[in-house]
Amino acid sequence: MKRLSGKVAIVTGASSGIGRATAKLFAAEGAKVVVGARREAELASLVAEIVADGGEAVHLAGDVVSEDYAKALVATAIARFGQLDIAFNNAGILGEMGPSTEISEKGWSETLATNLTSAFLGAKHQIPALQKQGGGSIIFTSTFVGYSAAFPGVAAYAASKSGLIGLTQALAAEFGPQNIRVNAVLPGAVDTPMYRSKNDTAEAQSFITNLHALKRPATPEELARSVLYLASDDSSFVTGTASLVDGGLSITRT
Ligand code: NAP
Repeated sequence: MKRLSGKVAIVTGASSGIGRATAKLFAAEGAKVVVGARREAELASLVAEIVADGGEAVHLAGDVVSEDYAKALVATAIARFGQLDIAFNNAGILGEMGPSTEISEKGWSETLATNLTSAFLGAKHQIPALQKQGGGSIIFTSTFVGYSAAFPGVAAYAASKSGLIGLTQALAAEFGPQNIRVNAVLPGAVDTPMYRSKNDTAEAQSFITNLHALKRPATPEELARSVLYLASDDSSFVTGTASLVDGGLSITRT
């Protein structure tokens, strides 16, 4: 039995990395998937792969900072597949990094808008559709950064991502009585284009992998399996959590 049979899901940040792997896994587990990101060609090729594998998916390109895009993703799920049960609000950027005394207001605001406000806008428009279904699951992609560890130069990213944990808790408390579960997944390093853009030397990769007890980054597929757990009824009593999937980074001091 497929774990998401009969379910309809939205996945943002689906043109790459964790979102792409999760959209493919959701579809393989029987969900009909609406995939979003800005790069349309990447989304179209993802949809083609899902369909070739016997799944169902549709793409809608747009920018998650836009409330109209949040509305349109939900409208697409309803128009194409009749309902919405699951939303993985995963799109994100590292944003402007560097000494906090030099971060521009524009860089700060862009990071907050892309990583945090987008998640709020997504949930705002997804929740009424989940209520019609009598419940559902929302997942946000946070990070260990700003939760269990931090580095110099990551103020905007850390603030945006730890803000998602507060949002998770507030929404879980507000909509739990209506059987809507809300959780945040907190990856350690995951081998995606974002990870490679930051860790572009052997020295940087060695530093980051050594922070993990498992001494390696995750694959996007490993994250996808954890997100599947939070999306599916396997986690039916799990809500309001900051769910670390970090290869032991948080408990490693060596
Ligand atoms: P990635 O490969 O760079 O993917 C990021 C995704 O977000 C892309 O699909 C990108 O699509 C989308 N995106 C970014 N800005 C967007 C915008 N304004 N509107 C719409 N879509 C947008 O990185 P990833 O590692 O898979 O990251 C996924 C999430 O995991 C992020 O939230 C990231 O912060 C988080 N995370 C990653 C790691 C890691 O080590 N990789 C660790 C912890 C948390 P387009 O460019 O096509 O718009």
